Amino acid sequence: MRKVIKGGIVITMDEKKLEKFEKLDIVIEDNVIKDLTVDYQGDADVIIDASNKIVMPGLINAHTHLGMSLFRATNDELTLNDWLNKKIWPIESTMTDEDVYFATLFSILEMLESGTTCSNNMYFSSEAAINAIVQTKVRSIFSECLMDNDDKGTERIETFKKLYEKYKDNDLVSFMVSPHSMYTCSKKYLKECSELALSYNVPVHIHFCENEDEVKKIKKEYHKSPVKALNKVGLLRNKLVLAHGTFISDKDLKLLNKKDISICHNPISNLNLGCGIADIDKYNNTLNICLGTDGQGSGNNLNMFYHMSLVDLLQKGLHKNPLSMNSYDVLKMATINGAYALGLEKEIGSIEVDKKADIIILDMNTINSYPSDDIINNIVHNTEVINIDTVMINGETLIQNHKLLLNINKDALKDKMNEMMMRLMK
Ligand SMILES: [Zn+2]
Repeated sequence: MRKVIKGGIVITMDEKKLEKFEKLDIVIEDNVIKDLTVDYQGDADVIIDASNKIVMPGLINAHTHLGMSLFRATNDELTLNDWLNKKIWPIESTMTDEDVYFATLFSILEMLESGTTCSNNMYFSSEAAINAIVQTKVRSIFSECLMDNDDKGTERIETFKKLYEKYKDNDLVSFMVSPHSMYTCSKKYLKECSELALSYNVPVHIHFCENEDEVKKIKKEYHKSPVKALNKVGLLRNKLVLAHGTFISDKDLKLLNKKDISICHNPISNLNLGCGIADIDKYNNTLNICLGTDGQGSGNNLNMFYHMSLVDLLQKGLHKNPLSMNSYDVLKMATINGAYALGLEKEIGSIEVDKKADIIILDMNTINSYPSDDIINNIVHNTEVINIDTVMINGETLIQNHKLLLNINKDALKDKMNEMMMRLMK
């Protein structure tokens, strides 16, 4: 099957190209981009007209919890500690696999409708969540959330191993080892996670230095700085995605000076839970910086465009300097940097020949986003759900002309979410 996306302004996010955007046709064979050319005249089974529209890589949400759609905006006036211990964990302990399946399915629709094509999902009941991913043909990283602060630590690692073997050849499903955090895992368990990730050759994904309280807890437990504590349990040998990294000292930052360590910035979650604002400008020259929404409980929504706008504004405000961040770098965080973080940079994150066709088309000819002189800045700050025209993952068109092509009854799904809310959150 040959598809051609024709006549659009293409933002490739290809670092080798000097042009940030140009009018190009994209030729796709099955699931792979085969050519980028001006005015393609060859054969095509399907032509997607993108004239007067923007074509760009699908967004990559590098830290989220897809099963948390049920908890949307539940964090008001709660600290991270109280929110997790009093609100979230007691309810999560009563959720069934079926609940996680429907909550994940709901999150997938939210991501698709806002232009996200790949997510890094840390949650439990992973097989139920994988079923939702396989059904909807979206791309995702999976990792059973690993903790040993109860008696299920070993069982969770066995679940990871079982699911890895079952789905390792699935084109849309990848894996990470995800210990929840240093304060919910023992030293011995973290060492086990590090070894597990090395033996399966997958990255490690962990909440890290989310707020000052966590930094104090780690120092008290380890008698070391947080990064030295990571080293103590072996995790600095791993490719790492550190979710949040809101408080990393200059001394610790020097110890993290490795190319395969990524900070996943989650600005709305950090603001909502009163954690603070990560100094992305400080990290930018040392580490790979990507972007996540966190779950809807603390992140409000999974709309990466909304979160992108805030990244740009926060850094400029934090540093009282409009030069401390720019829109193109923010767009990199949400695309190619996310791909690097997840170890998928050879497959996704930019529009390049031989990469997978994970592509979105934006129609910016709406009142909220028109006119568009500075295209990149306009995309970062003014893209809303109404601007998402087409979403393609692995060469398959899932949204076209704003219409969801998946056979999912949204009203029935909303009813199911309502039933879950009434049953679980009373
Ligand atoms: Zn999180």
